[in-house]
Amino acid sequence: MVLKSQPSPTQQKPEPQRCLTLWSGWARLMLLIIGVVLSWAISTMPVFLPPLAAQFPLGAALQRSLSNPTLPIPPPPVPLLAQGETRDRPLELLGHRHYDQAFIDNLTVVSSYGAAKGIQRFEYLHQDAALALMKMSDAARADGVWIVPVSGFRDQERQRQLFEAQVQRQGSPQSAAQSVAPPGYSEHHTGYAVDLADGLARAKDISRRFVDTQAFEWLMAHGQDFGFELSFPEDNPQGIIFEPWHWRYVGSAHAQHLFEPQTLETTLPKPKPRWLTYSC
Ligand SMILES: [Zn+2]
Repeated sequence: MVLKSQPSPTQQKPEPQRCLTLWSGWARLMLLIIGVVLSWAISTMPVFLPPLAAQFPLGAALQRSLSNPTLPIPPPPVPLLAQGETRDRPLELLGHRHYDQAFIDNLTVVSSYGAAKGIQRFEYLHQDAALALMKMSDAARADGVWIVPVSGFRDQERQRQLFEAQVQRQGSPQSAAQSVAPPGYSEHHTGYAVDLADGLARAKDISRRFVDTQAFEWLMAHGQDFGFELSFPEDNPQGIIFEPWHWRYVGSAHAQHLFEPQTLETTLPKPKPRWLTYSC
């Protein structure tokens, strides 16, 4: 005779407790499945780029550069070339000289502004020019003058937009080039050129009326002490309009060499990338 083993009163769980144990097991299993699915979804999700980086090539390049510090800014596309010109000799187009685009790792932020649609705009300069500008602005402020950098480094795409808009306004590339350089030919590509304004006379920004500001007067008297000079004074040999707001930094050997007239025998030394360092 086989006796059925009966659970002892202490082994047999009461009905509510067995239900609870069952549901607890299911809950753990569901959590595990959800965790696996979420992990898979996150690992396959495309990398999120904030709107600023997506809209500005420089922001995107900076983001790439920070995530992989060995990446320099990607080589720019071949710019417009005048008839018969090649990259083997100095290039000029419509009175403007060709300039390579600065390495992004050599640039640093000098100012930021709120722009349309809530976007923040940042202005960059080569670190040497940025440091000199900071010292110059401090000295000017001590004299009661407020110098504001409103446009620094530009990549070729930004310059292309500006140039094409000017062609629309002026009617031809030749007329447009008297006030805006074609892409690939702007001093702003180097990171050493900057458009300056008077913080106390903003109505005279990027205008010939800038000559009537305290900032311009101060710059003419002291700019060279900090390594800055006017790029396009009146009656300049390049045939560019007088731009009292546009200054370039020539206070380092590389910057000075960059803006010297080049010959077939001279070649520009390539600046080595320097990594940005941040401090609080
Ligand atoms: Zn300029």
